[in-house]
Amino acid sequence: MATQTLQLRPLGNTGLKLSSVGFGASPLGKVFGDVSEQDAFAAVREAFRLGVNFFDTSPYYGGTLSEKVLGKALKALGVPRDQYIVSTKCGRYKEGFDFSAERVTRSIDESLERLQLDYVDMLQCHDIEFGSLDQIVNETLPALLKLKESGKIRFIGITCLPLGIFTYVLDRVPPGTVDVILSYCHYSINDSTLEDLLPYLKSKGVGVISASPLSMGLLTEAGGPEWHPASSELKAACRAAVDHCKEKGKNISKLALQYSLVNTDISSILVGMKSVKEVEENIAAALELATAGMDEETLSEVTDILKPVKNQTWPSGIQQS
Ligand code: NAD
Repeated sequence: MATQTLQLRPLGNTGLKLSSVGFGASPLGKVFGDVSEQDAFAAVREAFRLGVNFFDTSPYYGGTLSEKVLGKALKALGVPRDQYIVSTKCGRYKEGFDFSAERVTRSIDESLERLQLDYVDMLQCHDIEFGSLDQIVNETLPALLKLKESGKIRFIGITCLPLGIFTYVLDRVPPGTVDVILSYCHYSINDSTLEDLLPYLKSKGVGVISASPLSMGLLTEAGGPEWHPASSELKAACRAAVDHCKEKGKNISKLALQYSLVNTDISSILVGMKSVKEVEENIAAALELATAGMDEETLSEVTDILKPVKNQTWPSGIQQS
């Protein structure tokens, strides 16, 4: 009998094929609580063993810690570099935002050193709603195109929370400048607004990565971190959904991840993971979805609980002129 493996999905026009579940490495920067290096290495190793080929980090996560730990963990795999796909970011740092050409050009060298890599597959401008979008279009992305020519990065991406920012930038750059967008907290049970943007992104040939299927922890039994920006109303509704699942003996995180995975126009769902247990649960959820489908009854109950806050988000970024 063939062993079941994670689905690989094409990413826009890049030619890359990403595992449907991607490894979000922000937890390795301890942003969701303490994680030992040993647990982090074991989680990365187990994810790779179970078919995850896509790993996402940023110099911002844990003030460079995530990149350093991920770099060591990937090196410890001892497999050829083309067996895994690495995305890191630029422009957002512990010290603040800087999307200048000079800073992002320096940033990739620093990231490559921390990651112990010669190149990254994707470099994404991190949370661009906090920068000047004119600078992103006229200075940052041209600088990234030069990095592409130099071979330090293979593909270029942008990330942000407000979905309108993606269209603003994509409508102002030559086709092929931005290869991929990374959206977060807009394709999970409580907020699925990314769906409306998918036809536009497809028409532009831009690959789509969706992060935070567990709404940055709100759709987990442990709940979100202290810094979670959601309103108290949204947090309370998510807590009610979590409690409902728990009472029924169901796992809300499994349901939420499966919900995000159903849409195959999204190349990879990035879920933040910090232990072998989480990795195994999440991969099992993906494999089970392929064979048994979703628990539609529980999904419908959870959807009802979340109805009053459906698609509620929070402000992010600076006022753009
Ligand atoms: P998430 O929704 O993936 O939730 C992560 C939290 O859920 C962590 O606390 C994790 O330990 C926990 N978790 C994971 N699997 C679980 C399971 N099976 N059971 C219970 N708890 C579980 O949120 P996230 O980590 O913010 O997003 C995923 C990744 O996407 C990030 O790590 C990062 O790489 C990327 N991301 C990027 C941006 C951006 O570029 N602006 C924003 C958000 C996320």
